[in-house]
Amino acid sequence: MLTLSAVVPCYNEEDSLSELVRRLQAVCVSEAGDSYEIVLVDDGSTDRTWAWMNVLSTRNPHLVIVKMSRNHGHQLALSAGLSVARGARIFILDADLQDPPELLPKMMKLCDDGADVVYGQRTDRSGETWFKRITSKGFYRVLEQLVDVDMPLDTGDFRLITRRVLDLVLAMPERERFFRGMVAWIGLRQVPLEYVRDARFAGETKYPLSKMLGLAASAVTGFSIRPLRIATYLGLITATLALGMLVYALTSWVMYDAVSGWTSLMIVVLFLGAVQLVVLGVMGEYIGRNFLESKQRPNFIIEQVRHQGDARSVDATGAKQSQNIHLL
Ligand code: UDP
Ligand code: MG
Repeated sequence: MLTLSAVVPCYNEEDSLSELVRRLQAVCVSEAGDSYEIVLVDDGSTDRTWAWMNVLSTRNPHLVIVKMSRNHGHQLALSAGLSVARGARIFILDADLQDPPELLPKMMKLCDDGADVVYGQRTDRSGETWFKRITSKGFYRVLEQLVDVDMPLDTGDFRLITRRVLDLVLAMPERERFFRGMVAWIGLRQVPLEYVRDARFAGETKYPLSKMLGLAASAVTGFSIRPLRIATYLGLITATLALGMLVYALTSWVMYDAVSGWTSLMIVVLFLGAVQLVVLGVMGEYIGRNFLESKQRPNFIIEQVRHQGDARSVDATGAKQSQNIHLL
């Protein structure tokens, strides 16, 4: 088994690739000598990312390049990369060099000391826009409130994990994959490593607000049924309020000639309507998720895996969890 695999999901990252491989390779060599691989996953890029990967990999025996059949999104591209990784330890980072590869030695050291997961925790994100910082701060705080699993704050997917953690994650069959949550759920020995998140090396963020909201929804629905409970509480609160209104309406009907009341009626109708829609929406999220899981489609499709210009079969790459992998 190789000592180390680095797994990098890439979506339209043509300008970062060579710098990424250069810096990553330098730390891999220092930590693992010759016994490492760099798995680059092209998540259906529309630029020349795949062409570049091929150019780089023909002259570099340490590169394994994986092409997804289409854009599957960051989390699934990562899962695909992990499923072909063969190392005893797996280093996960973004292609844009926001997470410095140079932290690998410190992470390896913590693993040597017995950690199963060393996750990068961001102390400073001054390289990013204020909008990104505020939304992601909010995201991690809300997540903390809603999710039952103890998920570390301000922690992305940048981390080093051991083979046994990876095998446990790969054995989880769910479709909606929120990787850092699945890892947190496993437990074992997980330790943080604080770092400063740099600005992107090149290109722009591939996580617009819509994708962030999607990630947030999948994180919450995947790890907690607390929103359903909140829906119940909302129902109870409105029922109590309605009871008060009932008493008020009845007494005013008995004691006075009650004709007025258009305003209060409107408020009640609008309020109840809104609460019902919210609750229905929350339930819909869970039902929808259930529907997607019940279809049991493969999580992703890998079109090809290449190593030094040759196609590799999935078995040759040691792929796990055959139901997730369908090589065309
Ligand atoms: N990414 C991907 N598929 C996507 C979107 C993003 O593989 O559909 C990759 C992207 O190339 C990068 C990583 O996921 O390596 C994180 O994305 P990005 O840097 O855009 O997110 P941010 O750092 O802004 O949160
Ligand atoms: Mg980034």
